[in-house]
Amino acid sequence: MANLEDIVSLCKRRGFIFPGSDVYGGFAGTWDFGPLGVMLKRNLMNLWWNFWVEKRDDIFGIDAAILMNPKTWVASGHTATFADPLVECKECHGRFRADKLADGLNESVTTEGFLKLKIKCPTCGKENWGPIRKFNMMFETHVGAVLPDDLTSESSKELVERSTAYLRPETAQGIFTNYKNVVDAFYPDLPFGLAQQGKAFRNEISPRDFILRDRECSQMEIEYFVNPKTWESEFEKILGEYRTFLTEKLGLKKSDLTEVEVPAADRAHYSKRTVDIMYKYPNGEEELMGIAYRTDFDLKNIERESGKSMEYRDKTSGEVFVPHVIEPSIGVERVFLAILANAYSEEKVEGKNETRTVLKLPELLAPYKFCVSPLLKNKPELVEKAREVYEFLKEKYTFVTWDDSGNIGKRYRKQDEIGTPKCVVVDFDTLDDGTVTVRDRDSAAQIRIKPEEL
Ligand SMILES: [Zn+2]
Repeated sequence: MANLEDIVSLCKRRGFIFPGSDVYGGFAGTWDFGPLGVMLKRNLMNLWWNFWVEKRDDIFGIDAAILMNPKTWVASGHTATFADPLVECKECHGRFRADKLADGLNESVTTEGFLKLKIKCPTCGKENWGPIRKFNMMFETHVGAVLPDDLTSESSKELVERSTAYLRPETAQGIFTNYKNVVDAFYPDLPFGLAQQGKAFRNEISPRDFILRDRECSQMEIEYFVNPKTWESEFEKILGEYRTFLTEKLGLKKSDLTEVEVPAADRAHYSKRTVDIMYKYPNGEEELMGIAYRTDFDLKNIERESGKSMEYRDKTSGEVFVPHVIEPSIGVERVFLAILANAYSEEKVEGKNETRTVLKLPELLAPYKFCVSPLLKNKPELVEKAREVYEFLKEKYTFVTWDDSGNIGKRYRKQDEIGTPKCVVVDFDTLDDGTVTVRDRDSAAQIRIKPEEL
């Protein structure tokens, strides 16, 4: 099993993920995807989009604005309840998420319950806590011409209130708020889904665990609208399709995935079923994604706040009702890290006293499919022939890289580390018979073949 430090180090060394604003000493809870990271991330998001939207007739895409009318968050409950328990040390004024300071606590921890545990401040070691307060994790901003003075001036109070907006804490509400537009525009048959990928923001009190708990992330969410009579079978169907997606498309091992039926006491009050899919990350088991049956909770909230009907009229039966919703929700960074952890391996090099690090990424996710190089850099005839092969493959597969640095062994190590499935080498035999050496990343086996046959 890979450990997290090795993955973080590989990510930085090879240009997958850098700490956000690294040159200025970083910016907590933010990460930047480098040249290879963005390729892998896009491959992942494209694969998801292809599987869930393009290949289906019943799920449609949406790309809503990040800034939304603040009524959205009143209706969804985020304004009132999207909060973590915050506790402040009265000695050093450090602020912490109370439920993360000891095992066995959860988000509803009370001040009394917390004080009883006699927890010491992780920063200064003293035990002098203030009360637990609810900290809303939405990033607040002001839309329009609001001056810094306005924020403290009594006469601008109304202007400030009117201008207050939030960076969206989830992509789901951009889907729910467009449900009616989509029904009015083309009246799809039930069940149908709306899918969205995009950024979401959460002002985590203490971001940690690399990209697992960051302040800015990307989500891939679907709201699947169903007739309430069929929610159980539709739920099973989506769950089954997600199993296929995670194991067959992303290559995650079944043994690393655990499905947890969330007990009623831990579910949102409106939900009759929630399944969390957990992944065995290097630092322990953590939630990878969730599938929740949300009933008509969200559409009914929108009806109440907007005054507009969210009813759907069944085309054949004429039955009129507010559809219920199954919501599979997955975070791009969470699945990105699962893919890296799953792919990372260190192995003995056969016949040599060294180990190689290999990212055994599925071909559809790997940043590059092929790396082309001339056996020797200082032989113009090899370089010229290799360039030809490179141009040919680049035209055909796009994701092809060129490497003529160092010796061939070093190039293989580098391509292994970034997960390139095939290395193509042009040597003197190529000049004679047109065949190239193709080396397989996982087995390190080599074959000779013509580039046209790749
Ligand atoms: Zn302290």
